[in-house]
Amino acid sequence: MTPEPLMRMRLRAEQDVFVARQLGREVARAVGMEQQDQTRLATALSEVGRVMLTLGRDAEVAFVVELNGVPTLRMAVENPSPGGAAEVGPRIAQVGRLVDTLEVGDGETGTVVRMARRLPASAPRLTPERMDEIRAGLAEHVPGTPLDELSVQNQQLIAALDEVRAQRDDLARLNVELEETNHGVMALYTQLSEELEETNRGVVALYAELDEKSLQLRAASEAKSRFLANVSHELRAPVTAVIGLARLLLDPSSEPLGSEQRRQVELISGSSGDLLTLVNDLLDLAKAEAGRIEPEWSEVDLRVVVGQLRGTLRPLATRPEVDFVVEEPRVAGVRTDEVLLTRVLRNLLTNAIKFTAEGEVRLAVRPVDGDVEFSVSDTGTGIPAEFHERIFEEFYQVPRSQAVQGKGTGLGLPYARRLVAILGGGLRVESVPGEGSTFTVRLPAS
Ligand code: ADP
Repeated sequence: MTPEPLMRMRLRAEQDVFVARQLGREVARAVGMEQQDQTRLATALSEVGRVMLTLGRDAEVAFVVELNGVPTLRMAVENPSPGGAAEVGPRIAQVGRLVDTLEVGDGETGTVVRMARRLPASAPRLTPERMDEIRAGLAEHVPGTPLDELSVQNQQLIAALDEVRAQRDDLARLNVELEETNHGVMALYTQLSEELEETNRGVVALYAELDEKSLQLRAASEAKSRFLANVSHELRAPVTAVIGLARLLLDPSSEPLGSEQRRQVELISGSSGDLLTLVNDLLDLAKAEAGRIEPEWSEVDLRVVVGQLRGTLRPLATRPEVDFVVEEPRVAGVRTDEVLLTRVLRNLLTNAIKFTAEGEVRLAVRPVDGDVEFSVSDTGTGIPAEFHERIFEEFYQVPRSQAVQGKGTGLGLPYARRLVAILGGGLRVESVPGEGSTFTVRLPAS
């Protein structure tokens, strides 16, 4: 449905074109168009009106506001003379630049030119009440004389010229600003690249220092291992001698000792035994750390390894409350160093037996994602989570942890982890206090 027109007017003579022009501007202003658009529409209307009058009969102008979709102001100029489109079209071609759409046509009622321009988003909302107000305002509109219109046109021209000048000035100012900004950006860029260069120099220096420090660290660590190896090596002979002498003194074929003397010699013998264990452990660890252990790689039959462990450790696991279970391996073989692997597993099994009062100690071997896992699990005292890493440090023993049998030096686990690393694998622990522990060695299968 076509909305009710805002306004209609008849064009009879040349003067009416001025009136149409004023009316066009009024309508555009009333529906919320900006000053420039008002002038555009007024000019378009006067030009079309002028040309349409030349068709010979009276023309009629109608203004309609379309509110469906994007609000649009439509203007139609009709002349009942038929077939004028071909003549009018070329003469008003320029008008197309002043409006959004321009159509010229020959209809049943004569020749018609339709123009439309969208209202700006900033225009106030046009309610039916507002439309009635506008209609009333336009009806009261008293048209001025052609001279009035000329003066209005002049003022508009001056305003347009002023605006063009203002825009030119704006452009010049913008250019200056742009140039200044460019200078600023260049300065910033130079400063940034200098800072970057300086930072780079700093980083390079830092790396050099880091390299030097890690060299020093490696040297210190090697010195420590050498020292430990030398000291333990030097200690081994005298300690072994003390053990031998004590054994000699206690031998029934030697001169009999008083009971107090016997007790003291037995103390000496026990302590020297502990000392020898410590010295041996230290020597092993120092050798492993100094990289003096060269694995002998071979295809190792795991049934043999497991069988030997079962045989050598059974005498240790003698308590009836603890089942010592060595499962048949689910992997036939692995390429590794048999002696080192056996040493690691024996170490873990000894610990498990040492810290388990009842339940079981179990060794299992299974394939996992192309690797082989050896797990030593027990139902012993367990280890609190905060010590899971610390137990792999030298001499570290979990505070207040009481071995059920035997003593320790705190060197077994660091040594085991070192050996596993030499074999290209890893050693990890899972443990819950009061429930037990599982130590897992993972080795590449080949
Ligand atoms: P240690 O000679 O004392 O056994 P390790 O390095 O082998 O030295 O072990 C370090 C510590 O880790 C032990 O003193 C003990 O506190 C804890 N630990 C090791 N294995 C177990 C285990 N199976 N159950 C409970 N605690 C363990």
